[in-house]
Amino acid sequence: MTVLGSGTSHGVPMIGCRCATCRSTDPHDKRLRPSIYVDVPGRIRILVDTSIDLRQQALTHGLERVDAVLFTHAHADHILGLDDLRSFNELQRTPIPCYGNAEAWRAIKRTFFYVFEGTLQKGGGVPQLVAHEVDGLIDLGVRIIPVPLWHGKLPILGYRFGNFSYLTDCNAIPDASWPLVAGSEILVLDALRDLPHETHFTVEQALAIVDRLKPRRAYFTHMTHDLPHAATNARLPAGVELAYDGLVFDIEVDAA
Ligand SMILES: [Zn+2]
Ligand SMILES: [Zn+2]
Repeated sequence: MTVLGSGTSHGVPMIGCRCATCRSTDPHDKRLRPSIYVDVPGRIRILVDTSIDLRQQALTHGLERVDAVLFTHAHADHILGLDDLRSFNELQRTPIPCYGNAEAWRAIKRTFFYVFEGTLQKGGGVPQLVAHEVDGLIDLGVRIIPVPLWHGKLPILGYRFGNFSYLTDCNAIPDASWPLVAGSEILVLDALRDLPHETHFTVEQALAIVDRLKPRRAYFTHMTHDLPHAATNARLPAGVELAYDGLVFDIEVDAA
């Protein structure tokens, strides 16, 4: 599991910002837009979201395959790199199955009308994607559990892979989703900043989730420049830290 991006929608540094985090020379304070990559050796490589920074993320981490894409939701920071999937189509010579909820597909198909309408002439370099609306467990040879979450008023999806759950862009976990994430040993969770926000957990709220779920290890993601890496980690309890771009850890997936 690789964290490709741990930043908020603006990324860190923010354009034009002169704050200490945005001017930091600590590479952990450079945050691209949110995405993760799950590589199950010899089986499947899964990209979660096609961030605005997908091209840069793919080059930085040497991504050579994307066998499936899982969309959490269709906000710009999570989908605007979708066009770059065509590079993987060219390498793999197959369409790429993509998964998301109904709300995500409505927005993605509007934003990327030229990909899904099939009206462009051939040879135009359009991504070849197969849209699947998520309806229960996803079987990709490994078992993936979609986890309904609230991102303000927008219903979005987190994803659980075996002992690992990825819950970005949320400010509430519905009661029905708690059993889906129970027992997660490793958690990556939205923690935007300290100040309250209508669609994201604060650090304090995220810590309360960690306290209830009790994963062995928790990483926060989708951070603004309000949370400098080193100083924020110094005040987080044991077992909880900020994720950063390029963070890699092992997970255990379930066979489907
Ligand atoms: Zn976001
Ligand atoms: Zn969002």
